[in-house]
Amino acid sequence: MSDVSRLPGPMDHAWQWQRLGACRGMDSAVFFHPDGERNPSRARRTAQAKAVCQRCPVMDMCREFALETREPFGVWGGLGESERRVLLERRDQQKRLVSAS
Ligand code: SF4
Repeated sequence: MSDVSRLPGPMDHAWQWQRLGACRGMDSAVFFHPDGERNPSRARRTAQAKAVCQRCPVMDMCREFALETREPFGVWGGLGESERRVLLERRDQQKRLVSAS
């Protein structure tokens, strides 16, 4: 599922933080799994991507961007796809609770 267009691209204002990303210039295949990739290679690739994120100065912004846009693929802000899904489900549940109260 490698897709270079998903990595830092046009420098409009909303994307300015991406020029500081530790992944800038890296092969997007580190962050996006190829079709059909399974463990253990998928786990190794994801761990490698997360290690890059851990030393990234814009990790929090990247993570929030991926959550706000509900990015379905890849490692963003140190979180994998399933981790973001869990966080989004929690946020959605909290919003439903607040709106029902
Ligand atoms: S947190 Fe990870 S994916 Fe996001 S910009 Fe930094 S290195 Fe790239």
